[in-house]
Amino acid sequence: MRPLLLTAALLMTGAASAADLKVYPYDGSRLLAGQRFDLRIEAENVKNYKSATIRLDGKLIEGLVQTNTKETSTEWTLRDQSITPGAHSVSVVFSDDAGVQTKVARWTADAPATAKAKKVILFIGDGMSWNVMNAAKMVAFPYNPANGMSTGKLAMESDLSSMASVTTSSYDSALADSANTASSIASGQKILVNALNVYPDNTENTLDNPRIEPITGILRRTTGASIGIVSDAFGTDATPAAFSAHTRRRGDYQSIADQYFQGEVKPDVLLIGGSRDFIPSTAAGSRRKDTTDWIADSQKLGYNFVSTRTELLAANSNKLFGLFNIDNVPSYLDRVQYKGENTLKDFKDMPYLWDSTQKAVETLEKNPDGFFLMVESGMIDKFEHPLDWQRAVWNVLELDKAVAWAKDYAKKNPDTLVLVTADHAHSLTVFGGYDTSKGPGQRNAVGIYEAAGFPTYGDKRDVNGFPLPETARTYAVGFGATPDYCETYLGRAEFLDPTVSNGKTGAEAGFVPNPKICAEGAVQRVGNLPTSANQGVHTADPLPLFAFGAGAENFMGVMDQTEIFFGIAKAMGLDGRKNK
Ligand SMILES: [Zn+2]
Repeated sequence: MRPLLLTAALLMTGAASAADLKVYPYDGSRLLAGQRFDLRIEAENVKNYKSATIRLDGKLIEGLVQTNTKETSTEWTLRDQSITPGAHSVSVVFSDDAGVQTKVARWTADAPATAKAKKVILFIGDGMSWNVMNAAKMVAFPYNPANGMSTGKLAMESDLSSMASVTTSSYDSALADSANTASSIASGQKILVNALNVYPDNTENTLDNPRIEPITGILRRTTGASIGIVSDAFGTDATPAAFSAHTRRRGDYQSIADQYFQGEVKPDVLLIGGSRDFIPSTAAGSRRKDTTDWIADSQKLGYNFVSTRTELLAANSNKLFGLFNIDNVPSYLDRVQYKGENTLKDFKDMPYLWDSTQKAVETLEKNPDGFFLMVESGMIDKFEHPLDWQRAVWNVLELDKAVAWAKDYAKKNPDTLVLVTADHAHSLTVFGGYDTSKGPGQRNAVGIYEAAGFPTYGDKRDVNGFPLPETARTYAVGFGATPDYCETYLGRAEFLDPTVSNGKTGAEAGFVPNPKICAEGAVQRVGNLPTSANQGVHTADPLPLFAFGAGAENFMGVMDQTEIFFGIAKAMGLDGRKNK
């Protein structure tokens, strides 16, 4: 009854509710001095707009473009703005039939620092929270049964110059996805889930949102440094895209592909999967809606194009574009140990992440003005979602070998900063040991506490010296956030999704455990996620950040993810106010 009474009261008095005012960059924004952003002011629920006065630090802002997206809204946009070091505020005094109201957004901008690092290699393990990194260490360096001591450490956690623990969140949620978290690292802002380097707006168009300049854009605009992007995910996926693209919707794959070559960043090195977004719609497997052919067009722009490991290793050019799969590059275990025909299909000669890292650096370092390289290990997350912990963790080992190479490079090149972090967490946890002689899905084959014992990983090794997941005694590993699914405790050579559709539509649609896995002999576990979830989800747990070399002291203690951007900018001495 209460809302009705309220409405009646409003009708009787003639009072109208005030318009809803929004300012972007949002109140509390921290920016880098000179970092470009689009100023956007929106008024929704407007009753007969009368006037608005918009000031920056008390001075009227000129050149604002006013629009009316809806009958009841009005907006003002001014693109490519920036602020000087220190505190600033935007004030909006807005007037309509509901009266006059004021909205203030306060911003601060960091002053530039003296450069220490000329070269930066940023590794992002997608979904590699502390627990995931630690599980990889426990597999690679099992404990010594003679004394209970670990037999070693991953390269990423050895000989550190500095380290931090990183927390994540989104502009619109306490939880996060790879788009907004990679954007937080790239541009230092809290961003909407599913968005890349943009603020919200009230239009349907996902490509017109107010933008924020990523570190790669600042580098391109203000310095002569080269830029590289490497990922084993499909190349228009969120993490690599966050270092080049702007969009409200991470699924704008065609635009993200175009932005690599037409946007403000234009990376000199782009080594990725996902050729489907770069080949014309007429080509088999293409996801494009037009006939643009970036394989052909990139070569006209001076890129050397490669599509296999052999071609990559032989490449010697200043600009390098590599597409190594139609979709994601398969997991390490699929490429090296399982080699399933159905998984590898036509792709038999794909680079390791360490190959791509090394070739990217060799290409970028030809530029005496330095470089910024982002390397993503994307398959960690891609296999955590379907609860396949072995594939996920072995990809951490592949990433670690790339990190080992980069650390070695930084030792020989002391003007280099190497960072290893993650974008968001997953709920993977090691809770015991498992006696595989008992077969799949045996709860009583799980040993806990002293009965967990010591796994036997490393009794057999592959061509790269990595252990096999199949060994007599494994870890018992599970996930904290799951749909209903069947748990076997064992890995499998042929990947299977944990769930299948329940065959229902509308409100009843949902997912049930994959009967193929249940048939292997498994414990059926009741999930804790909504029944609409077909796989595991990201969690809010903290992430590691390991730093090596020049400027590493900027990464220390407990950090919010957005601070990584400012740490890199400080290490590189970026000054957004410059124009080269
Ligand atoms: Zn994910």
